[in-house]
Amino acid sequence: MTATDTHCPYCALQCGMTLTPEIPRVRLEPRDFVVNKGGLCAKGFSAADLLDHSDRLLTPLVRKGQGLREASWDEAFDRIVDAIESAQKAYGRDSVGAFGGGGLTNEKAYALGKFVRVSLKSSSIDYNGRFCMSSAATAANRSLGVDRGLPFPLEDVASARTVLIVGANPAEAMPPSMQYLEGTRFIVADPRRTKTAAGAYLHLQPLPGTDLALANGLLHIAIREGYVDEDYVARRTTGFEAVRSATNAYWPERVERMTGVPETQLRQTVRLLATEGPAMILTARGAEQHSNGTDTAQAFLNLALALGLVGRPFSGYGTITGQGNGQGGREHGQKADQLPGYRKLDDPAARAHVAAVWGIDPDELPGPGRSAYEMLTDDRLKVLMVLASNIAVSAPNSNRVLQQLRKLDFLVVSDIFLSETAALADVVLPAAQWAEEEGTMTNLEGRVIRRRRALPPPPDVRTDLEVLAELSRRLGRAESSDPRTVFEELRRASAGGIADYAGITYERIEQEDGVFWPCPAEDHPGTPRLFADTFPTPSGKARLIPVVHQDPAEMPDRSFPYVLTTGRNMQHYQSGNQTRRVRALTVALPEPRAEIHPDLARRHGIADGDLVELRSRRGAAVLRARLSDGIRPDTVFAPFHWPGANALTNPALDPHSRMPAFKACAVAISLHTEGTE
Ligand code: SF4
Repeated sequence: MTATDTHCPYCALQCGMTLTPEIPRVRLEPRDFVVNKGGLCAKGFSAADLLDHSDRLLTPLVRKGQGLREASWDEAFDRIVDAIESAQKAYGRDSVGAFGGGGLTNEKAYALGKFVRVSLKSSSIDYNGRFCMSSAATAANRSLGVDRGLPFPLEDVASARTVLIVGANPAEAMPPSMQYLEGTRFIVADPRRTKTAAGAYLHLQPLPGTDLALANGLLHIAIREGYVDEDYVARRTTGFEAVRSATNAYWPERVERMTGVPETQLRQTVRLLATEGPAMILTARGAEQHSNGTDTAQAFLNLALALGLVGRPFSGYGTITGQGNGQGGREHGQKADQLPGYRKLDDPAARAHVAAVWGIDPDELPGPGRSAYEMLTDDRLKVLMVLASNIAVSAPNSNRVLQQLRKLDFLVVSDIFLSETAALADVVLPAAQWAEEEGTMTNLEGRVIRRRRALPPPPDVRTDLEVLAELSRRLGRAESSDPRTVFEELRRASAGGIADYAGITYERIEQEDGVFWPCPAEDHPGTPRLFADTFPTPSGKARLIPVVHQDPAEMPDRSFPYVLTTGRNMQHYQSGNQTRRVRALTVALPEPRAEIHPDLARRHGIADGDLVELRSRRGAAVLRARLSDGIRPDTVFAPFHWPGANALTNPALDPHSRMPAFKACAVAISLHTEGTE
């Protein structure tokens, strides 16, 4: 039996592991890859349990009345192509769309974007990264000229002395990454005393939705106390004076009132960042998934630039990507406004370059489409194809999204299990899993790595590349289903773009422990560290942009007096479609727990373990209570790995990134009595 080196199917750390097919099961062992250095979390250790899981989809399914029945691939493809052609004839090309995922390989994300723009000739495509990284990406693009989550390797974090982590819980979400924080003094800003916050040197506990005020307050102190790196600001940035004016109003006493973070902690944080370097600021979804998420990420970028951190050794600003290929998935064209190589669909030069690679006229390319929530709730969308995403659970205001999915003329879902979304589909396609296919992923550092095939997929299961190629053929266009061939085309399509993969080959990835983009030529070493000398902006300088605090789109009131924030548990991943089927993980955490402060619980007669009902203006969810004095008394936390939390969340969109406000909405809470166990 041959051992195959590959990577974990879950988060963006992409830990290395080795798979050895054995009878009756596959043996999975941690691998001493440069990122995880032999570490794996519980999710990674149990990932092989999914390969032969009894819930696995092994044949196409087609709708028959209220249920689904087994069908041949021919029948499934016939039905899909009929639905596409009928809808486009009746309602126009954009009535047919696709929804992708940040777990797709680079090859699949690229092929899906091309399939929609070229074979369907539709602008209707977006993906679940819109719900994940879009605000951080928008802020980084406009300020630094490029969006690569970490513009430095993770190993640089270990050499930093002070690290401010805003809205991230790596101790639960990606435990092996904590080894890089061990020697640092890290400060955590989070409304909850998470596992990460519990180990921090300092824990700032801001009210959800006030991180921008927190960042502006820190910058205000830095300016007043003379910590701004004036030389760096003059040489390497533009816009500082406007930011200085904008932060005038964020004096410490006011910021303490807005955020709940004591003035002494604000001052201590600034002093540590400015004087106990090298220093880094890392943000994540807690700061970014808001209706002002782009401006909030910008506020922390402004702080990092004013302190002269960005581009300095073992210093900088970064954002922690969550999904396995969240980075590569946002570079190669499955986003509504984007072409491969991080090119923009509304840029004539980008259209000309990509159209030439695709052998079409640039005028044939559709324009930018609608963002995820807007597309999913638009009556003009009649046929939707979903790959590697469980939007019935993961989209905000999920009751509204479910209603719209049921209204579609035709829904196609490709997945490995019958997810909540697949259960609504007219055609379900059984997809190959991570260990059964070849491809590349780009991890949270911008390191392009190989996902290798360790065993063949079950006989009647296909890869998404095979599905897209067959659908294209039936729609009149020949496309390859071979990952290496698709990657070679991706290299050409990305050449000269911001995310330039032209010099990356499968062979180089093998030899070099991955290759960092941009890598414009095969003799180019790749770019582990960005911004040492310049920024890829027209002026070569980073832009500071003034931003001001705005209240969350929905504030607590008499009817909905508390703030709900959502997030992750260590044992589960994303919508839970995979991890809720792994016995070791469900035994460890079988159900979602609403985290509630004992004072709040007392007010409502709630005891630890009671079922509570959370209600927002959009829906309700029943969860078991977990009392914790580690959460603010005005805030409730619910994990999003099960159906429920997103029935409550607010779909108000960030005006720049179109990111929904997942992390703050107003809720009421009560003891749940009906059906109490
Ligand atoms: Fe997998 Fe992420 Fe866990 Fe590593 S940290 S084993 S990549 S889920």
